[in-house]
Amino acid sequence: MNELDYDFTRRERDFGRVVFALTLDHKKMTERIVIGKAEETRVRLEHGGGEVYLDRTNPLGSLLFSFEADREKEWNINLSRLRESYGKVFPFEGKRWKLAQQSAAFLQEKYQSAEPAAIFAAIRTWEEYLGCYHLKHGPQRFMENMSQLYRPFFLYDEYKPWQEEAAAVLSKSLKDGDSQVELWYPVKKRPFECVVAFSSFLPVIFYYLHKVEEWGYIFQGCKVCGKSFLAKSKHYKLCSDECRKVQAVEAKRLFDENAKGERIEQLHESAYYYWYNRLRKLKRTKTADPERLAAVEEAFKAFRAEAVQMKNEVKRGDRSLTDFTAFLAETQDEVDSLME
Ligand SMILES: [Zn+2]
Repeated sequence: MNELDYDFTRRERDFGRVVFALTLDHKKMTERIVIGKAEETRVRLEHGGGEVYLDRTNPLGSLLFSFEADREKEWNINLSRLRESYGKVFPFEGKRWKLAQQSAAFLQEKYQSAEPAAIFAAIRTWEEYLGCYHLKHGPQRFMENMSQLYRPFFLYDEYKPWQEEAAAVLSKSLKDGDSQVELWYPVKKRPFECVVAFSSFLPVIFYYLHKVEEWGYIFQGCKVCGKSFLAKSKHYKLCSDECRKVQAVEAKRLFDENAKGERIEQLHESAYYYWYNRLRKLKRTKTADPERLAAVEEAFKAFRAEAVQMKNEVKRGDRSLTDFTAFLAETQDEVDSLME
């Protein structure tokens, strides 16, 4: 479905507030995030219509794993620049928009990223920037509101909320008003409850963690690619079909390697006994020529040394199995001709 495109050159705010809506599907193990005006979002979730900026379904946990992290506080730097632009009033309007344009470019870039929290924060920032301009104490309100929204970005770089210690830090950073979040109960056409955030992501994160715990899912690191994912139990160690495929190929390779090793040993062993039996037969022959016996014994010794060396080369992959079988066949001919 084609989504709306947000315009960061807009100079007047639209009516209505843009919200971040999250629904989790317990059975399918997916998350769905819709970003749009509250009414449009509601329509999208209930009937599939509505014009929204984002409507994306991902594997459960994706939001938590890829959440915007901003240790350098780039969001706040752009916020300050926007705040500064408020001071450029008539006749410096031109300067105002020039300053704002720099930050709009930053927001546009974030808007185009794949990360839903960054997309929402970008839209919210521009809406708030336009909205607060006309308000009493606008610049201050703008700074406060946006800092509140950005707070988990800064923390997230260091703390992953599913780690116990991190959850404590995040919950400590929860301030008055942060916990304002709406819960849209399931309705006929929308069987899932939906948590809807406007001013802070923290309640969304805590809601998410709470649901994961309630459903008994486990945060795991994938044994193949190392990525974090949510598993139904501790026994699931691979994050995706892709990684399961990688592991199956690796298991087959190990199996083939073992099978090849066994085959080499078998070939070596039967060639050894071929020689051994010939020599024994010669020793038991009463009329055996001592010179011939000595020659076969000498050749057998040489064969044993060379066969072991070649076997190890094949195992290391420095020589092919065909080389080895050819060598064994030739030496069998050799002992046969010595016997005549
Ligand atoms: Zn993986």
